[in-house]
Amino acid sequence: MKIVVTVKLVPDLNAPKSIDSATKRLVRAGIEPVLNPYDEYALEAALQLKDRLGAETTVTLLSMIPASQKETLRKALAMGADDAVVISDAALEGSDVSMTSSALALALKKIGFDLVICGGLADDGSTGGVPGAVAERLGIAGLTNARKLEIENGNVKAQRETDTGYQVVSVALPALVSVTMAVGEPRYASLKGIMNAKKKSIALLSAADIGYANAAPKTELLRFAPPPGRTKARIVEAHDGAEGARVIFDFLRERKLV
Ligand SMILES: Cc1cc2nc3c(=O)[nH]c(=O)nc-3n(C[C@H](O)[C@H](O)[C@H](O)COP(=O)(O)OP(=O)(O)OC[C@H]3O[C@@H](n4cnc5c(N)ncnc54)[C@H](O)[C@@H]3O)c2cc1C
Repeated sequence: MKIVVTVKLVPDLNAPKSIDSATKRLVRAGIEPVLNPYDEYALEAALQLKDRLGAETTVTLLSMIPASQKETLRKALAMGADDAVVISDAALEGSDVSMTSSALALALKKIGFDLVICGGLADDGSTGGVPGAVAERLGIAGLTNARKLEIENGNVKAQRETDTGYQVVSVALPALVSVTMAVGEPRYASLKGIMNAKKKSIALLSAADIGYANAAPKTELLRFAPPPGRTKARIVEAHDGAEGARVIFDFLRERKLV
């Protein structure tokens, strides 16, 4: 079985961020790229399936990133992925969800897959829209928010988290699943894994390679502003818990929050 895990690289989570007012894009220059943390969970879910299904199952990483950043994927290869495919092309710069999902879907058709596993969210763009859009473009079932995956008789069975618990859904392969952090903590790369990762293949695909025709983003960022600063807190001194609770309740009711 061929599992493909989509992996986005995002700017170092701890680095201070700013937006270029002319391009309205996040300034990425000088900030170290790292694996999108949610995608480490997607990889963990894929590796758990590989552990259970055996050596005939392969795990390929798929990432749309600047080619200069491809070595950052070695960390995911060291964790246990077999190889990586990078889509990189100037025509894809400034991609929004529509362009990103289109490029990923075309690449998936080209490299082939039985199961695609995505993170639920990218730490920078954070729309959570890419997995569903990729499934739609491929015409396959897309299951979101999965916390546990099993492969059974040509189906993927997932426990999907809901507000009140979880539901069990089973769909025929090929399919796409996005996972939550409940799938299990991403494993550490072993020393052997780190050594092996150096020899693993990272293939590069251009827009032409995947048959991507020029397209413009469908999303336009009109304006942006820093969030308003915090207002000063109101401190209430109550004689007892009941009075404190009443003051808080009245405060919330005034603002129609309860
Ligand atoms: C006009 C405009 C220009 C933009 N330009 C850029 C830009 O130049 N660079 C940029 O990074 N963002 C850019 N963005 C942000 C862009 O919308 C998103 O970062 C990108 O489309 C993915 O959406 P997301 O980050 O919300 O992913 P989400 O939907 O939150 O991601 C969910 C999952 O999808 C997968 N995924 C998402 N993106 C990728 C990827 N690139 N490769 C592999 N897997 C992926 C991952 O598994 C991830 O966990 C731009 C947005 C706009 C509106």
